[in-house]
Amino acid sequence: MKFYSTNNKDLRVSFQEAVFNSLPQDKGLYMPEEIPKLDPYFLKHLPMYSFQEIAFTVAKAIIGNDIPDKDLKALIDDALNFDSPLRFLSADTAVLELFHGPSYAFKDFGARFMSRVMGYFSKQGDDLLDVLVATSGDTGGAVALGFLGVEGTRVTILYPKGKVSKVQEEQLTTNGQNIRAIEVDGTFDDCQALVKQAFNDQELNQSLRLTSANSINIARLIPQTFYYFWAYAQLKAQGQQEVVFTVPSGNFGNIGAGLLAYKMGLPVTHFVAATNVNDTVPRFLETGLYEPKPSVQTLANAMDVGNPSNWVRIQDMFQQDQVALKAMVSSYTYTDEETKQGMSELFDSFNYVACPHTAIAYLASQQYRKDHPGTYASVFLSTAHPCKFPEAIAEEAFKAVKLPKGAELLADKAKLATEMPVDYQVFKTYLLVNN
Ligand SMILES: *Cc1c(COP(=O)(O)O)cnc(C)c1O
Repeated sequence: MKFYSTNNKDLRVSFQEAVFNSLPQDKGLYMPEEIPKLDPYFLKHLPMYSFQEIAFTVAKAIIGNDIPDKDLKALIDDALNFDSPLRFLSADTAVLELFHGPSYAFKDFGARFMSRVMGYFSKQGDDLLDVLVATSGDTGGAVALGFLGVEGTRVTILYPKGKVSKVQEEQLTTNGQNIRAIEVDGTFDDCQALVKQAFNDQELNQSLRLTSANSINIARLIPQTFYYFWAYAQLKAQGQQEVVFTVPSGNFGNIGAGLLAYKMGLPVTHFVAATNVNDTVPRFLETGLYEPKPSVQTLANAMDVGNPSNWVRIQDMFQQDQVALKAMVSSYTYTDEETKQGMSELFDSFNYVACPHTAIAYLASQQYRKDHPGTYASVFLSTAHPCKFPEAIAEEAFKAVKLPKGAELLADKAKLATEMPVDYQVFKTYLLVNN
């Protein structure tokens, strides 16, 4: 499969190039030149297959022959060796838990798959691969733990000072080895802008072999399609044919992958994008005007994104057709106050402790059901383990949270981070000097 840029449909690059370059020169995003349609027999019989078998079939359709079958299978088995269970809260509402990987967030799917793809394509004797990543909290942990110890790679993570939780910061800053953390005195958008500028800096690119690990990388988008097929398989096994997915959204990579799965033939009835008050996309769906704003800090800080970078991919999949897009995607926005109520409701009604992002998805799934009654199964995605967001969760509910084993061990490790102002020259110098 070849990939084009959303800004230039005549461009064609290989999968390998799309993975290592992450962003085309024209600042568009890479997309497969053709969205493959999956075999109807496969889609009809989804419940017959394991998660890994589904993942292989979907990945193979997008990637083509650029990775031989045997290697692709091995890569998937190694990267995605954890569960993503669908838990029913009631007969027609379920939560898809995507936080059972090493960093306790759904970003493990993307980061682990991508790290292994990059490892696979890196040949002996190549220059060190420098992975630059901006994080609002969860990306960095997933990337750090995904790349930790991967030979031939070095990871530099930029995170906004004071805007990530304790477990998140520990996952970013306690690794050592080939992982470096930079604590930026600014917002996530500032971190992202610094990274983008580095990628567009020719001088820097001559000295370092830079690559991105952000959710814009096509190798992160692809594995996020797998669990939509998996969730559908589990529903279908129970006789349920119709599903509405509600996705807590920030950079819109997760829901973008869901829409890609839909375009590949997964029979999804509707998607709901659930956001916090960073509501650029909900406003766009309402007014037709795309007006990014600086991000605002909220309880659901992994979704504090003012200008969602994956949105152009979604518009590309719908050929900029606003009407078609709105027929398939709805969106709802929630304040911190409402998010807290959502968390209480989940705890009080279902004895379920959710992180704030997940609670926002729950609220939006309920709201959509109210606005669109029907017999479909409502599946909302749980994107992080609640232990990553202690400040956001009420004390009583948090007491019911069982800390994963790994999280307990982090607290004793020393913090290794470099503080930095929002200043591109300082960042560039750091990269060149510490080489
Ligand atoms: C990253 C993240 C999101 C947002 O996902 P996008 O793909 O950026 O829309 C939601 N919840 C959690 C916990 C996250 O880490």
